[in-house]
Amino acid sequence: MKILVCISHVPDTTSKIVFKNDNTEFDASGVTFVINPYDEFGLTKAMHIKESMGGTITVVNVGLAATESTLRKALAIGADEAVRINTEPTDAAFVAGLLAEYAGEENFDLIITGRESIDYNGGAVPGILSAHLNIPFVNACIGLDINADQATLIREIDGGKETLQGKLPLLIAGQKGLVEEKDLRIPAMRGIMMARKKPLRVVEASEIHKQTTVLNYQLPDEKGACTLIDPDNVDQLVELLHSEAKVI
Ligand SMILES: Cc1cc2nc3c(=O)[nH]c(=O)nc-3n(C[C@H](O)[C@H](O)[C@H](O)COP(=O)(O)OP(=O)(O)OC[C@H]3O[C@@H](n4cnc5c(N)ncnc54)[C@H](O)[C@@H]3O)c2cc1C
Repeated sequence: MKILVCISHVPDTTSKIVFKNDNTEFDASGVTFVINPYDEFGLTKAMHIKESMGGTITVVNVGLAATESTLRKALAIGADEAVRINTEPTDAAFVAGLLAEYAGEENFDLIITGRESIDYNGGAVPGILSAHLNIPFVNACIGLDINADQATLIREIDGGKETLQGKLPLLIAGQKGLVEEKDLRIPAMRGIMMARKKPLRVVEASEIHKQTTVLNYQLPDEKGACTLIDPDNVDQLVELLHSEAKVI
């Protein structure tokens, strides 16, 4: 089984988000970057498949040299090789086009992405990638079972689950449920040492044009002060909802 896991390099969820240059650019100074959590679920699932069926796991990122620490972490967790497509990932269609160019030459049986990246939250890369490769795509995937060239997949839908069947090669966009949080692997010292020797190849990006350009970013409004009201004092609650919150 030849598996590709697409890895997005994102700010740690505890990071303070600040923009610079008149709110046109994210300020990455002092920010710790991690593997996108949805991709970590995907990588762990890839490890389970490799352990039961054999095969190889390649991780790929479209990004500049700073993302190599994240790829090395994926290697320490258990991926066999890493590829970095060397450019700033400045548009979802651009990223998906570059991933498709790379994946199209490699004949992967299974491509795993996250459902969305937790930084720009576009949720666009997997769908565009599968369209380029002309392979089946299952979004919000929470279960995957492979038997020969057939896959049984479970997808989360509003208030329930859907079970589907598809033929490999296919692409899933994973999330929690594909594996559980307790299954995630923390790189051990041996894994970190071995990761240093595993191949991390840098591929130059081809000329694919961006389709959109961000004009600026805007943070949500500051939360207002919170007023606590005694549960026995319903009259005061009604009065404040009327006079201050103006919702009744
Ligand atoms: C400096 C900078 C400038 C930007 N400017 C723009 C802009 O002008 N217009 C605009 O639309 N966006 C801009 N972006 C955001 C950029 O489009 C996204 O970071 C990127 O395209 C991912 O798109 P997404 O949020 O749709 O990913 P999603 O579709 O939410 O990600 C889903 C999954 O796709 C895979 N994936 C996503 N990104 C990568 C990656 N880089 N490498 C490998 N796998 C990946 C991962 O598996 C991820 O879990 C900018 C980003 C940066 C860093």
